[in-house]
Amino acid sequence: MRQANLIDGKWVEADSGRTLEVLDPATDARVGSVPVMGAAETRRAVDAAAEAFPAWAARPVEARAATLLDLSARMAAKRAGLAALMTAEQGKPLAEAEAEVDYARSFFEVAADAVHTLEDEHPEVPGKSIRVHRRPVGVAVAITPWNFPLAMLAKKVAPALAVGCTQIVKPAEQTPLSAIAFAEIAVEAGVPAGVLNLLTGAPAPIAETLLEDPRVRKLSFTGSTEVGRLLMRGGATNLLRLSLELGGHAPMLIFEDADIESAVRIAMAAKYRNGGQTCICPNRFLVHASIHDAFVAALAEASAALVSGIGTRPGVALGPMIDDAAIEKVEAHVTDALRRGATVVTGGGRRKVEGAADRFHEPTVLTGCTVEMKCWREETFGPVCPVRAFRDDDEAIALANDSEYGLAAYAITSNPRRIERLGLELRTGVVGINDPGPAVAAVPFGGVRHSGFGREGGRWGLEEYLEIVTVSQADG
Ligand code: NAP
Repeated sequence: MRQANLIDGKWVEADSGRTLEVLDPATDARVGSVPVMGAAETRRAVDAAAEAFPAWAARPVEARAATLLDLSARMAAKRAGLAALMTAEQGKPLAEAEAEVDYARSFFEVAADAVHTLEDEHPEVPGKSIRVHRRPVGVAVAITPWNFPLAMLAKKVAPALAVGCTQIVKPAEQTPLSAIAFAEIAVEAGVPAGVLNLLTGAPAPIAETLLEDPRVRKLSFTGSTEVGRLLMRGGATNLLRLSLELGGHAPMLIFEDADIESAVRIAMAAKYRNGGQTCICPNRFLVHASIHDAFVAALAEASAALVSGIGTRPGVALGPMIDDAAIEKVEAHVTDALRRGATVVTGGGRRKVEGAADRFHEPTVLTGCTVEMKCWREETFGPVCPVRAFRDDDEAIALANDSEYGLAAYAITSNPRRIERLGLELRTGVVGINDPGPAVAAVPFGGVRHSGFGREGGRWGLEEYLEIVTVSQADG
């Protein structure tokens, strides 16, 4: 397993020789170690990306697209190894890690296709001939979180490279090895030296150097709203183009026409993916009063049946929380909810897993939740389902919109007029109707308000890495 960083096509260590241990959150076993890069190495990565940019941007679209497709095929060939590494450093069940490899690959295939749709435009203006064309912004930076180590990277690398940008990626400290394995595959697929550079280590020296360098023209960040704000401030000096994919606090609305069995199936799939550590996981369940009790009973039964454990063990559906702070936050949210009058229907605390670290939380269903509770206001990022009843559509929509976040919302209903209304009135960037997985590579994905801005996926994802140029020629 490679553990070095990639700068200008070479595998390098930190100048200081410092390294960072990567531990398995399920067992605390050492998975590997990676370099801790500083400002000097970061500047060298920008040098390499800036130098590689003109030739990569000038490469025919077909050639760039072919490289992306080759990269995707190589990921498919290494699916098992990539998934095992992801499970080791992140903790998710192996089947979810395998599905993430497939999801990550799909961004390369979509970008390789969508890049062909970016044609020049010729708006009609009397007395002028106009050509509107697009060109790559230049050196782009990707900063990614630990919850989807490969997919979050792919969402940024695929569109950037497709349109001709060069890139520097900084993965999360907890999950850098998947990113290194990915970079190794990119090199094998023929991504030229300097086009993709990878830096690991503590964020501050890397991010500060990148933000200060005027050659960096784009930053795409996925992570917390708090760090997104910091980066936005830091990017102001060079008026950096930003895409910010930030925190979420998705509501799931279950209307009176929902079939309980399929509602629970959808709720389970959306909620417990990655142990609830997913930005679009439903964090607030709003259930019509007429079916509240039946839904809660079925959700609690299905939740209690989930098997927790080390992700490589057969039948495991729930892995560990990523670290001690994460499980303590989940516990604090449950404790706060109980103190304010919620009821535990199932779960409510830690779950002991044989031979594993004490970092597993029971799947938990809470009823009687109110807007003052932390679990109702903040992202819990764990396997907790806070539930409350609503009486009519107006109340459901008002409660759903009562959050500063606006990433995803879900609804379970078959009423066409209601579905149309939800699409218009729910203040989120993504709305899933009877759909636990509304994030696919071919469609735009992103938030509004404190969940950020910018879109990933499809042609929309490519636009984030392009600047528009208008050539206006006077006739005659
Ligand atoms: P985080 O603390 O914001 O970290 C995300 C990335 O930012 C990591 O690479 C981290 O590096 C880096 N970082 C931290 N402090 C930084 C700084 N001062 N300057 C520059 N970079 C910095 O978020 P997280 O806890 O890892 O991830 C969970 C959050 O991500 C949740 O809020 C979740 O909703 C959100 N998320 C959003 C989406 C979306 O598409 N909207 C998708 C997935 C996750 P280190 O690891 O080295 O600290």
